[in-house]
Amino acid sequence: MSAIQKNIETASENYSASFTKGHLALPPAKKYLVLTCMDARIDPAQAFGIELGDAHVIRNAGASARDGLRSIVISEQLLGTQEIVLVKHTGCGMLTFTNDDAYGLVEKNLGSDAAAELKSRNLDFLPFSDLERAVNEDVEYLRDTKLVPDSVTISGWIYEVETGRTRRVV
Ligand SMILES: [Zn+2]
Repeated sequence: MSAIQKNIETASENYSASFTKGHLALPPAKKYLVLTCMDARIDPAQAFGIELGDAHVIRNAGASARDGLRSIVISEQLLGTQEIVLVKHTGCGMLTFTNDDAYGLVEKNLGSDAAAELKSRNLDFLPFSDLERAVNEDVEYLRDTKLVPDSVTISGWIYEVETGRTRRVV
């Protein structure tokens, strides 16, 4: 068993020993979702004040609205969420490369078959070069898409990995 697997077993023992939230309903009690980055330095529950059972937390590389759309539609249409809080962050890895860089890395590390598959899938890694603009563009995207109704409240934020602070952009 790997050290990571052992860690999960230990954590599970400790967590379940005092667990008292087994009665929570499936739909998020506060009817909202947070879309944020997968960055290891973000603790959404602590940083954004989310209690267990309150909200959906959707995470992907860069807190991409496009990438998150499938989960957003499920959250809203099947599980009743009515507000979206989008949180990107300072120091995001998505600020550090272009699609060409990523395509090049795949070819170098995984070989030409993998590169060909990437091309055939036409995969966009959705990097961005300006953090505030990216927050605004993703909020625009969510406001424009017919898959998110106009009644849904949407806001865009930036979490600062340096200070732990979250500030509103839009
Ligand atoms: Zn990030």
